[in-house]
Amino acid sequence: MITLKGAAVSAKIKEQVEELLKGNTGRIPKLAIVRVGERPDDLSYERGALKKMAAFGLEAECFAFPEDITDQDFKKEFSQINESRDIDGILLLRPLPKQIREQDIERMIDPQKDLDGISPINIAKVFAGDDSGFAPCTAEAVVEVLKANEIPLTGKKVTLVGRSMVVGRPLSMLLLKENATVTICHTRTENLKENCRNGEILIAAAGRAKMLDASYVKEGAVVIDVGINVDENGKLCGDVDFDTLEGTASMATPVPGGVGAVTTAVLAKHLVLAACCRRDTV
Ligand code: NAP
Repeated sequence: MITLKGAAVSAKIKEQVEELLKGNTGRIPKLAIVRVGERPDDLSYERGALKKMAAFGLEAECFAFPEDITDQDFKKEFSQINESRDIDGILLLRPLPKQIREQDIERMIDPQKDLDGISPINIAKVFAGDDSGFAPCTAEAVVEVLKANEIPLTGKKVTLVGRSMVVGRPLSMLLLKENATVTICHTRTENLKENCRNGEILIAAAGRAKMLDASYVKEGAVVIDVGINVDENGKLCGDVDFDTLEGTASMATPVPGGVGAVTTAVLAKHLVLAACCRRDTV
């Protein structure tokens, strides 16, 4: 079985970013990471994003707010970041605390700075198969992993476990755009195992530690694991029990070191595209 490492895909995306930056004579594109509170998941994503921006030669600044910031105060702060001419793109770490109306922020964010595809405009574009907007970075990262490893999608049966608005649903649309035949599974799916075993490509985005072992995998299938979970020993693990796949899957992404590394590379690419787009029009 071949292990599909995220680092190799990230390196290819870095080359694309460097190419895009060649034509850029202005200042270095700048990302704003907006965080409310100190959730460990957010802090870990923030560290990963900062490291990746630095590695790609891009700027990033964190805007951190207290967990108990009011809805009104947060909106005021967010507006300033959203309107700042210094900022080319925004990554909003979610979910936000309950007192903040997340839906309002999704509507407020400038679609041209919305690097993680949360605004209704960008989501609509993904569902319409229009690639002029920004898709959620994780969903796009999965397609990048498949393409970078020359895994054909046209006409292929892809089974996707998970239907969230962050990963499963937008990813299903990106795969459809690549002419895959997509089956989307969720908690109400009957015969989950049978559906998974039907996939020539199996993508897990359920958020359940090691829920899929080799018995869910078709012989020779490609397995992409989006899950980031903690196992019973406190170690990071995916939704797939990677150690069981040898002899069944032909290729699989590990966790950590798989899709996660590509997600931040896609974020960097989106940032540079956002900056280039602004400079064309300003
Ligand atoms: P989510 O909002 O909790 O959605 C999980 C989805 O999986 C839901 O659609 C749920 O079905 C389905 N599901 C859960 N348990 C299932 C089961 N036993 N059988 C079948 N379907 C099941 O999670 P998310 O935000 O999409 O994230 C999914 C995973 O990806 C998490 O581990 C998260 O940490 C990870 N993630 C990774 C990255 C990255 O960069 N690699 C980025 C974002 C998220 P229902 O709709 O029926 O509830």
